[in-house]
Amino acid sequence: MYSDQHVTMLISETQLKTRVQEMAQEMTRDFQGKELTVVAVLKGALVFCSDLIRSMDLPLEMEVLGVSSYPTGAETTGEARLTFDLTKPLAGKHLLLVEDIVDTGLTVDFLKKTFEARQPASIRVCALLHKPSRTRVQVPIDYMGFSVEDHFLVGYGLDYEERYRNLPFIGVLNLG
Ligand code: 5GP
Repeated sequence: MYSDQHVTMLISETQLKTRVQEMAQEMTRDFQGKELTVVAVLKGALVFCSDLIRSMDLPLEMEVLGVSSYPTGAETTGEARLTFDLTKPLAGKHLLLVEDIVDTGLTVDFLKKTFEARQPASIRVCALLHKPSRTRVQVPIDYMGFSVEDHFLVGYGLDYEERYRNLPFIGVLNLG
């Protein structure tokens, strides 16, 4: 397994697997009989989402979307921009937004508002990780994997300058 001296393991591969399966089981129950569209937010949520949907035992469609993080200075306004949009209309669909991590909450808040305007039947938010100490906008997280302290995390989809996404665990990056 690839790693380096800058990364300290925080959540192991086994812990991730167990929690992802539990979340998928809960979703399987909740979305029974509903037209479900699962949306992975690029790029960080891809690894998590691909494990999640393979443990969900129901028919679903999968989409991906790109969102630019707010430019420096615009954090207070929560200004974000879609860089890659969904391919199909959402009207009448049950939407499950899958995020890697909810930090300030600004991105998920922006995405919820953006998609509410497209009149889906419902919107639910799923985040593998949540940093409650960093919250700036309260957004309901319907399915949450792990609550974490304010560290910079990498692995299992999360990057630092595009590296570390392929680590099978979540680790804390120490660059000091
Ligand atoms: P928010 O809008 O909630 O502040 O931030 C959401 C995005 O910030 C996440 O989707 C993720 O891309 C990035 N982010 C926040 N915290 C971390 C972290 O600890 N590690 C990495 N790699 N990205 C993070």
